[in-house]
Amino acid sequence: MPTYTAPTKDMQFVLHDMLNVSSADIPGYDELDNDFTAAVLDEAGKITAEVLAPLNVVGDTEGCRLENGVVYTPTGFKEAFRQVCDAGWPGLACDPEYGGQGMPGVIGSAVGEMLNASNQAFAMYQGLTNGAYASIHAHGTAAQKATYLPKMTNCEWTGTMNLTEPHCGTDLGMMRTRAEPQGDGTYRISGQKIFISAGEHDMSDNIIHLVLAKIAGGPKGIKGVSLFIVPKILVNEDGSLGARNGVSVGSIEEKMGIHGNSTCVMNYDGATGYLLGDEHKGMRAMFTMMNHARLGVGLQGLAQAEVAYQNAVIYANERLQGRDVTGAKNPDGPADPLIVHPDIRRSLMDQKSFIEGGRAFALWSAMLLDTASRKGDDDALGLISLLTPVIKGFLTDQGYDMTVKAQQIYGGHGYIEEQGMSQFTRDARIAMIYEGANGVQALDLVGRKLAADGGKHVMAFFDLVKTFIKENEGDAALKADFLDPLKAASKDLQAASMYFMSEGMKNPNAALAGSNDFMHLFGHVCLGLMWAHMARSANAALAAGTSDPEFYETKRTTGRYYMSRQLCATALHLARIKSGADPVMALAAEAF
Ligand SMILES: Cc1cc2nc3c(=O)[nH]c(=O)nc-3n(C[C@H](O)[C@H](O)[C@H](O)COP(=O)(O)OP(=O)(O)OC[C@H]3O[C@@H](n4cnc5c(N)ncnc54)[C@H](O)[C@@H]3O)c2cc1C
Repeated sequence: MPTYTAPTKDMQFVLHDMLNVSSADIPGYDELDNDFTAAVLDEAGKITAEVLAPLNVVGDTEGCRLENGVVYTPTGFKEAFRQVCDAGWPGLACDPEYGGQGMPGVIGSAVGEMLNASNQAFAMYQGLTNGAYASIHAHGTAAQKATYLPKMTNCEWTGTMNLTEPHCGTDLGMMRTRAEPQGDGTYRISGQKIFISAGEHDMSDNIIHLVLAKIAGGPKGIKGVSLFIVPKILVNEDGSLGARNGVSVGSIEEKMGIHGNSTCVMNYDGATGYLLGDEHKGMRAMFTMMNHARLGVGLQGLAQAEVAYQNAVIYANERLQGRDVTGAKNPDGPADPLIVHPDIRRSLMDQKSFIEGGRAFALWSAMLLDTASRKGDDDALGLISLLTPVIKGFLTDQGYDMTVKAQQIYGGHGYIEEQGMSQFTRDARIAMIYEGANGVQALDLVGRKLAADGGKHVMAFFDLVKTFIKENEGDAALKADFLDPLKAASKDLQAASMYFMSEGMKNPNAALAGSNDFMHLFGHVCLGLMWAHMARSANAALAAGTSDPEFYETKRTTGRYYMSRQLCATALHLARIKSGADPVMALAAEAF
C-alpha cells in the first residue's frame, strides 16, 4: 500500500527561507514565526499521514453507495471527517467572527496540499464547503452569514457548488435551472444539476447547496444567471433544522477516480432558495471565489504528484533490476536498485524539480492572494488574477504528467492496482477538468487576462522577473545557472505576449491556437523565477553556515536541473505559438 509523509521541511523552507513570511508586511503574518508554522504543519502532517492516507485506498476501492436517497461514504470516512473537523482544520483560514481561526491563506494552502496528497476524495468534502463558505462570506446578508457560516466553518454543515447541467458545463449561459420569486423574498428552484461533488453524503447534518439558476424574465445568457442558497434541510429562524427541502440526489456517477467523493446528479423540484448577492449577478458572486478555488485545484495537481513521487522514490530504491553501467552498486545482490539508472534518475528529477518549484509557486501565489485580501492591494489582486489560470492549468497538467512518471517507475507493477499507483493518476486526472477545464483556463489567460487593464498585470510580472535578475546580477553563484536561463525564458514569454498582441487582433484563431502553449510557457517561467528565488535562499543559508548543508545543496542541485532541463521548454512553446493558426486550423472540420 502506498505511504505518505507530509513534506513539512520543504514547506518550512519555502515559508521562511524564501518567502520570509513572519516579516512580511501583511496583517496576520507576524504570527507566522518558524515555531508556530512548524507546530501547525506537524499537526497537519500527523493527521493526514496517520488518519487520511490509510483511507485513500479504502475510498478508491469501496467508493460511495446510494441507497434509498442516502449516499453512504466509504468505511472510516465519517469518523475521520469528525476527527478532522473537531481538530478545527476546515476552519483554519475562516473568519474568527464565525468560529474560524483566521489564519492566512498561505498556511491554509500548505495544509491543503497535505489534505489533498493524503486523500483528495476526502479533502473535497471540506474543500467544497470552504468554497461555498467563501461565497456566502463575500456576498451574504448579515442574517445569511449568521445562519450558515458558523456551522460551515467546522463542517457541521457542508457545502456544494452547483453550476453544471447535462447540456452545459463551460457555456453556462445555456443554463435551464429556473428560479421563481415567491413574493416573500424566497424563490422556487427547479431543474437538474449534474456532476455535483459532495452533493449528498452521510457525514454532516445538513448540506448547503449553492445553486446557479435563471430568474424568469431576466436577461438572456450568462447575464441572467443568479446564485441561490438551497439548504438540503431548511433552517428555522432559531437556527434549528426544519423540514426537508425539495432537493434530492438522482444518482451517483461511476467515474475514473476520486471514488471516495460522491459525484451526484441533483434534482431541484420546487426547492426553496434564498438569493445570494444580487439578482442576475450570480457569475460575479461565483467568480469572487474563483482565485481561491482554482489555487485549491492547482494544489491538487501538485499534491498528487508529491504523493506519487514519494512512493516512486521508495520503489526505485528497493526494486532490483539491471546493473549500473558504470559498475555494480549492489555487487552482493542479484542486481542494482532502479535508482542507479540515468533514465530513472531523469524521471525522478523531473518530478522532484516540478514539485518543489510548484510548491513554491503555490505558496507564493497564496501570499499574493493574502496581500490582495488582507491589505486590499489592487496590484496584487491584478497579478494573482493573471496567474490564476496558470496555477490551475499548469500545475494540474504537469501534476498529472508527474503521476504518470511515478507510475512508470513501477513498470507493470504500476499498472496493477495492488501497488496503489494507478489511483494517483486517476485521481489527478479530474483536476485538469473541473473548476474550468484546462483548455478554458488557457483561453481565459490569453483571451482575457493578458490584455486586462491594458496589459498592466503582465507588465508587472515582467518587471518582477527583470528586477530580480537585476538585483542579483552580481552574484556569480546565481548568474549562469539561474539568472541567464530565467532571462532567456522570460524573453520567450515576452515574445509570445507580443505575438498575441499583434497577431491576435488580426486573427483571434492565431492567439487561441497557441493558448495552451502560452499557459505552459508562462508556468515554466513562474517556476524558473521560483527556482531562482530558492537558489538565492539556499546560497544565503549555506553562506551563513547552516547546520543542514545537505538540504540546501540538494535544493540548489534540484534547481539547476529545472533551469537546464525543464525551463528550455519555453523555446519549444514559443516556436509552436509563432506557427500561428494555420497548422492547427488548416483542415476542414469534415476532414477529421
Ligand atoms: C468528478 C467531477 C466533479 C465535478 N464537480 C462539480 C461540482 O462540484 N460542481 C459543478 O458545478 N460542476 C462539477 N463538475 C463539472 C465540471 O466542472 C465540468 O465537467 C467542466 O466544467 C467542463 O464542462 P463539460 O464537462 O460540460 O465540458 P464542455 O463544456 O462540454 O467542454 C468539453 C471540452 O471542450 C473544451 N471547450 C469548451 N468550450 C471551449 C472553448 N470555447 N474553447 C476551447 N475549448 C473549449 C473544454 O475545455 C473541454 O475540454 C465536475 C465534473 C466531474 C467529472
